[in-house]
Amino acid sequence: RFISLEGGEGVGKSTQAKALAAALRARGHAVVETREPGGSEGAEAIRRLLLEGSADRWTAGAEALLFAAARADHVAKTIRPALDAGSWVVTDRFLDSSLAYQGGAGGISIAQLRALHEVGSAGLLPDRTLLLALPAAEAARRAEARDRGGSDRIGGRDAAYHARVADGFATLAAAEPERFRVIDALGEADAVTARLIATLDDL
Ligand code: C5P
Repeated sequence: RFISLEGGEGVGKSTQAKALAAALRARGHAVVETREPGGSEGAEAIRRLLLEGSADRWTAGAEALLFAAARADHVAKTIRPALDAGSWVVTDRFLDSSLAYQGGAGGISIAQLRALHEVGSAGLLPDRTLLLALPAAEAARRAEARDRGGSDRIGGRDAAYHARVADGFATLAAAEPERFRVIDALGEADAVTARLIATLDDL
């Protein structure tokens, strides 16, 4: 089974990806934990190209192609082999991040981003996508705390950008209720993990 965690900055995705993988292992499943951008040698190299340097290093189109290329390598080298071997895969971000960041917030069309995903990754989609959601005010507070003083591409993105990302995720989740579950990310980490695992019962 292929599970992705999605959401904006500071919602606790990486903490929850680890905790979810541990909970699945405790139930006897083999689990491969991975993340984007990255998750394979080639994709980690592309991650460095994406995350180093100033916010305007890449045009929106170049950035979309780099994320799609990283994902193609990640799928071919890490995700597909793990799924074929019968493991569960838990990834911190996947295609929906591109649709929300490069699409909803960055202005590339969703149809074009999906076409890139077809070319690079044969359109692979998670069996379930867990969207960690925070109230807008709390998300803005955490994003601001994280961005403060940052001069990299993560810093320098304003509250309006983060709000477009959050809107993008919410729209995607509403359009695909079978695949998505929206999880309240407020509260103790353990309580959030329990909410996540409960949404996988049918899998
Ligand atoms: O999940 P994490 O915070 O490590 O992601 C790294 C950065 O890459 C984030 O700041 C996120 O804004 C950005 N990102 C992006 N487009 C994606 C995936 C991540 O802009 N498709």
